[in-house]
Amino acid sequence: MKTFIRHCPTCGTYTFLAACPGAACSTATVPALPPRYSPNDRWGKYRRAMNAGEAQLTKEE
Ligand SMILES: [Zn+2]
Repeated sequence: MKTFIRHCPTCGTYTFLAACPGAACSTATVPALPPRYSPNDRWGKYRRAMNAGEAQLTKEE
C-alpha cells in the first residue's frame, strides 16, 4: 500500500493535502519521505565535514 503522507516545511504539520491546512500557513507541502539513499554518497564527505565543525575543516586543509 502506497502512502501519501505529506509534510509542511514551514510549521511541521503532517497532512495528506497538497497545501498545509494551517489557517495562517497554507504552504505547499512536500512528501514526507526519507531522502533517497545513494550508495555513492556523493555529498557525504561534505556533510560529515559540516557535522564535525569548522575547526576540523580548517585543520585538515
Ligand atoms: Zn504549515
